[in-house]
Amino acid sequence: MLESLKRRGFMLVLSSPSGAGKTAIAHRILETEDNMSLSVSVTTRNPRPGEVNGKDYFFVDMPAFQGMIQRNEFLEHAQFCNNCYGTPREPVRKALEEGKDILFDIEWQGTQQIAENAREDLVSVFILPPSMEELERRLFSRAQDSKDTVKQRMATAASEMSHWNEYDYVIVNIDFEESVKNVRSIIQAERLKRQRQCGLASFVNSMRYQTTD
Ligand code: 5GP
Repeated sequence: MLESLKRRGFMLVLSSPSGAGKTAIAHRILETEDNMSLSVSVTTRNPRPGEVNGKDYFFVDMPAFQGMIQRNEFLEHAQFCNNCYGTPREPVRKALEEGKDILFDIEWQGTQQIAENAREDLVSVFILPPSMEELERRLFSRAQDSKDTVKQRMATAASEMSHWNEYDYVIVNIDFEESVKNVRSIIQAERLKRQRQCGLASFVNSMRYQTTD
């Protein structure tokens, strides 16, 4: 890329009630987008079968999490279903400066905090399930959580969904492939935003000197 066409990266936040499909969409996007990486969160919840420390989450205990809060190491953090979740600040700062985009799988409280502190760098997408029946079916078929956990997550789904109108984009996840396609369109458009193309002014200026009459 031309040096002067460099741009600033952005934070693509995907939020949805558990089971609406955002994690699957996020993984597919990451497989195909070169310039995008996942923000790996820190959590106090126990790992699910198959989850890998440092890849899916950094799994820590409560004192370690509180230490990170005290040292101001989180860009945002929130409590969800009796567990704590937070985004480490430093990798995000570095990626944005290097013109790399970052994908976040976080809930609405964290999204609100990012919106308050870094609105220009945020692109937020809310994923809705096609129906509550389908949401319940997906949560049960995931079979990673206990029945009690599924019940608890269904109970919080309605209040989580009430935040759909705080997001820049909303996708109803009826068809997985179609939803992935829609997220890709959002990424393409957001990369072209004038404000993110921080090298444009000098690029255009340099062309002015090259024109002949
Ligand atoms: P799960 O336990 O199913 O992995 O995640 C529960 C909820 O916490 C999901 O809605 C997920 O998006 C959200 N979450 C995961 N990491 C973070 C984080 O770092 N910050 C916030 N605010 N929410 C998170």
